[in-house]
Amino acid sequence: MRMQRNDVVFGKGSRLFVISAPSGCGKGTILGEFMKDHDVFLSVSCTTRAPRDGEINGKHYHFITDEKFDEMIAQDGFLEYAEYTDCSYGTPLAPLLENLAAGRDVFLEIETQGAFKVKEQVPEAVMLFILPPSVDSLKHRLEKRGTEEPDKIKKRVSAAIGEIKRAYEYEYVMMNDDLDDAVRDFTTIYESVKNGTDAVEQFNSKNESIIRMIDEVLENA
Ligand code: 5GP
Repeated sequence: MRMQRNDVVFGKGSRLFVISAPSGCGKGTILGEFMKDHDVFLSVSCTTRAPRDGEINGKHYHFITDEKFDEMIAQDGFLEYAEYTDCSYGTPLAPLLENLAAGRDVFLEIETQGAFKVKEQVPEAVMLFILPPSVDSLKHRLEKRGTEEPDKIKKRVSAAIGEIKRAYEYEYVMMNDDLDDAVRDFTTIYESVKNGTDAVEQFNSKNESIIRMIDEVLENA
């Protein structure tokens, strides 16, 4: 993977937001609400995992084969890619470059390994981690969703713990406990980053209160 890229152009003050949250944390719902009144480009990743019921090819993901995934890697078609619970996931490069250059904010919803690869290549990227209220709540959500077999849920929960351990390294951290509060917090972070206001500082991962919040989620895991 190359280091800092020189082909990323931020037109009209556009920003790149990298959002990570363990699977089952509800980030899709938060983003869905947020996007009702914010015009940003949400990147559609490629994945080799099978679609879940209701997932639409081209909207939720580009569902592709291992061969096609390898081809995209060979053609330098990804900004980053990573393995997650036995499947591959990657961020297509071309739409991201186009949208940023056109002045549109770009959101990536990706796991931690990929997120840090992005930060390395695009240091201007804004890194946000969304915490679940507890690891138990995450497990219950995954069980309730019913889209994964019990052994896969186990893998996802253990991956989630590994991801939460890296939350300290993100710039901003918030929690999804109550949906309305989470949408409000997410919007505050986005708007204050865009407008350069201090409101975002309450979510800074270096704050004592944020460190304690991450510690507590991990202590009870
Ligand atoms: P899921 O299978 O639940 O849709 O996604 C599993 C994990 O992969 C989630 O944490 C999700 O954010 C992450 N993910 C989705 N797309 C990408 C991507 O393009 N790159 C990376 N590194 N992770 C991704």
